[in-house]
Amino acid sequence: MSAPPTTGGPTLPQVRKLVSTIPGPKSQELLARKDAAVATGTGGVLPISVVAAGGGVLIDADGNSLIDLGSGIAVTGVGNSAPAVVQAVRRQVEQFTHSCFTIAPYEGYVKVAEKLNAITPGEHEKRSALFSTGAEALENAVKIARHYTGRQAVVVFDHAFHGRTNLTMGMTAKNMPYKNGFGPFAPEIYRVPASYSYRDGLTGPEAAARSILQLEKQIGAENVAAVIIEPIQGEGGFIAPANGFLPALQEWTSQNGVIFILDEVQTGFARTGDMFAANHEGIVPDLMTFGKGLAGGLPLSAVTGRMDIMNSAVGGGLGGTYAGNPIACAAALATIEIYEKDNLTERARAIGAIITDFFAGLAAEDDRVGDIRGRGAMIGIEFVETGTQRPAAALTSAIARKAGQDGVLVLTCGTYGNVLRFLPPLSISNDLLREGLQVVADALKANA
Ligand SMILES: *Cc1c(COP(=O)(O)O)cnc(C)c1O
Repeated sequence: MSAPPTTGGPTLPQVRKLVSTIPGPKSQELLARKDAAVATGTGGVLPISVVAAGGGVLIDADGNSLIDLGSGIAVTGVGNSAPAVVQAVRRQVEQFTHSCFTIAPYEGYVKVAEKLNAITPGEHEKRSALFSTGAEALENAVKIARHYTGRQAVVVFDHAFHGRTNLTMGMTAKNMPYKNGFGPFAPEIYRVPASYSYRDGLTGPEAAARSILQLEKQIGAENVAAVIIEPIQGEGGFIAPANGFLPALQEWTSQNGVIFILDEVQTGFARTGDMFAANHEGIVPDLMTFGKGLAGGLPLSAVTGRMDIMNSAVGGGLGGTYAGNPIACAAALATIEIYEKDNLTERARAIGAIITDFFAGLAAEDDRVGDIRGRGAMIGIEFVETGTQRPAAALTSAIARKAGQDGVLVLTCGTYGNVLRFLPPLSISNDLLREGLQVVADALKANA
């Protein structure tokens, strides 16, 4: 088992320490101000006021030190405020903060593009374009695919999550809270079944045949610009498709002149135990989208793919005022170097083994642990009612709430709201991770 890394390593004591109830008085003060100043729709999971974070801990205004098993939704894979990232950002912010890449280009952006072209799957000639958010990357991938193919239909899947802008809301499956009352949505988005073996019992090829039949019958291959899928569905429940599902979809797209887009916004960058989840089954997508783990906490996203497809849009057709901001690019270059130097793919696999072993032990005593799945440091635990496969959403949120009160941040997800998702920073130590898992297990037991 590989040791925790050092380059992106912790700058704060890596301990869970509670000095008040959660939320403590200072956090409560901020939460009251938040209610009075910030729109309700922005939500909020853990009721604390964050003042510092590093490695695998979050520090709140009351001095509590909480174990972070969420990484700000798979963003701080190299650890929060990783020293090398901080240094790169500091250097860049003193040189220049902005020029707008579409007006006056700079090297950091080009270096990120060169790096992405080099490390993504496939030996073919590639090009990249940078943006700020995951949703923006998805929007642009769709623009590019439509422009290149001259077709309009976009195929997405049950349980998909692709963002919160109008187009990506339409591509996202779940109504509440992402879409409810926010329509109308963009046209020419079609949804087909995914592969969810715990609930559908199908093999990968069987599930793919079902999806393909539906899209051929309801849309027609000649109308489809792109098939877009997360290699492991994130928000939808950490659903890893059965083996053979993604390869079968890709084969169909290449036979039908359809662009195959892998949305690796959540799975990308060492998270799943490979640099990209595509590598798991040797998939070489036409286009890929990135965000979250790309820049160590700074807002940066990207589309990378085949040169002929990427170059089909005219100059000025892709971009944005802040797209590929130089500070975010500097952070991304430092971040990617940490993933590589500290061998964080291997570290992600070690973390995944600890989490799955831990829950396998728990599942043997408690049949409410319905399914343990995912890859690397992206593991989901699906909770069900005893003796059934009925989703236990209330239990799942009760566990997350209790764990938070006991000093462990763990996130939930899933179409049915009954999945705990584990996304620890890859810089977390084994001991801290195990302590965090034990707090979650105790929260499960407390909800007997
Ligand atoms: C988070 C996410 C997005 C959207 O990214 P934002 O930066 O929130 O716009 C898109 N796709 C996937 C798979 C995601 O997990």
